[in-house]
Amino acid sequence: MVKRVKEKTEAQTFEELLAGSVAAHGHLCPGQIVGVRLAILGLRLLGFEAPPTHPQLKHLIVFVEMDRCTGDAVAYVTNAKLGRRSLKFVDYGIMAATLLNLETGRAFRIISTEESRELAALYAPGEPDRRGQQLEAYKVMPDSVMFRVQEVKVNLSPFDMPGPTRRKAACMKCGQVVRDNREVRQNGSVYCRPCASGAYFTGVQEIAWPDMNWSPYANPDPTKLTDSDSPGRRVWPGEIAGKRDD
Ligand SMILES: [Zn+2]
Ligand SMILES: [Zn+2]
Repeated sequence: MVKRVKEKTEAQTFEELLAGSVAAHGHLCPGQIVGVRLAILGLRLLGFEAPPTHPQLKHLIVFVEMDRCTGDAVAYVTNAKLGRRSLKFVDYGIMAATLLNLETGRAFRIISTEESRELAALYAPGEPDRRGQQLEAYKVMPDSVMFRVQEVKVNLSPFDMPGPTRRKAACMKCGQVVRDNREVRQNGSVYCRPCASGAYFTGVQEIAWPDMNWSPYANPDPTKLTDSDSPGRRVWPGEIAGKRDD
């Protein structure tokens, strides 16, 4: 007799995703619940599982519009990652995220409503304080109250797609290599963004620091390193011969 695996209920799936999100984020907060709910809704609108299956993940791009708690939960549930270029941060200060299916081109922008905050007390009358009300309310509040959804078109540049670096350019002022079309062209010259338009940092000073030759393993003797591709060129300590493809 074949034993049937018991399907998880939607509440169980939600609680599992929330628990994982809380562990990754560091604490339980209303933002985790909103983010988990937002991600589940977005994935469902795309016809994806929550969390997405491996093939689905390859077609998913997620834009997060605010760097607060909710963003972590959306990233956790969707499994979108900066390092895979599947997670994009756009600094709008809006509690919203867009989920894009690269295969179909369909995209949904989901916005957390202000009404959901105002109505929290109504959905959790037993809770004495605001935080407790939000934590409970966001578990039972319908999606239609929590979110507004917009179907949108996203024009993703080839330079923003996952995959290998498509272009490198060197800044003509500081020499820094800039990847993926992020260089700035002014009067025929090419600059990195900090040189072209200022940076989030100032007062730059290149420094030396104590133990600056430290590495987790013993340093190899540079005189004994060889590079088979270009005889005569010494390979710097830390450089793997013939393996510099970044
Ligand atoms: Zn938080
Ligand atoms: Zn520069």
